[in-house]
Amino acid sequence: MQWCRWATNWKSHLPGKSSGPEEDDYFDFLFKIILVGDSDVGKTCIVQSFKSGVFVEKQQNTIGVDFTVRTLNIDGRKVKMQVWDTAGQERFRTITQSYYRSAHGAIVAYDITRRPTFESLTHWIQEVEQYGAASVVLILIGNKSDLQSERQVLFEDACTLAERRGALAAVETSAKAAHNVEAAFVLMARELMMRNGLTSADEHSAASARLSNSHPIHRSDSTDKKSCC
Ligand code: GDP
Ligand code: MG
Repeated sequence: MQWCRWATNWKSHLPGKSSGPEEDDYFDFLFKIILVGDSDVGKTCIVQSFKSGVFVEKQQNTIGVDFTVRTLNIDGRKVKMQVWDTAGQERFRTITQSYYRSAHGAIVAYDITRRPTFESLTHWIQEVEQYGAASVVLILIGNKSDLQSERQVLFEDACTLAERRGALAAVETSAKAAHNVEAAFVLMARELMMRNGLTSADEHSAASARLSNSHPIHRSDSTDKKSCC
């Protein structure tokens, strides 16, 4: 059963110690989140904004795969979010299958000012579905929401796609204005915690309510679905 596979997977991380830069930090949960989408949609800026709240106009095109760690405190639990950035190779759409393996969550990003990056979501979601675990939590992010006058993608279109592809939510963010970035990751973290039976549906709704321009799709309390779009 898929749920058992997840539970086993997580138990090996819970609680424990991370490897890497924050080696000494204990944590209650460790979630691996992958970030995919066309190049220049702002993935690296999103990670930077999540990590430090800083927007750096020109991001390096890192070779290989890069990950960033930030520990969130959610209801007194230390939730370590390990965010993997595709670092340049997305230009060639040649991301290795191993990148998707063992991801608990996937953020598929597009640029609201470039319609083709939204059209590419089908490709990226397909990759997540093909190479990721069956119960990977998917969130669609429409970045650069600060550029409203250049908008080429309606938020409603993202909502429709999210609903059709069984995503948890569609969220519009601005890495530049630090808008909705942290909230999107917190929504992801709460969903993953909830799937492990450790937070209540009410707390989850509260996280969704703090997001503006977000559209929760799979919710145990789906009554306010319409109010989000
Ligand atoms: P990646 O290739 O998907 O990792 O994209 P980057 O993070 O390197 O960003 C690509 C370009 O978009 C850079 O010039 C950023 O300055 C710009 N950018 C990223 N996020 C935003 C945003 O939220 N608003 C605006 N206006 N520009 C952004
Ligand atoms: Mg990048």
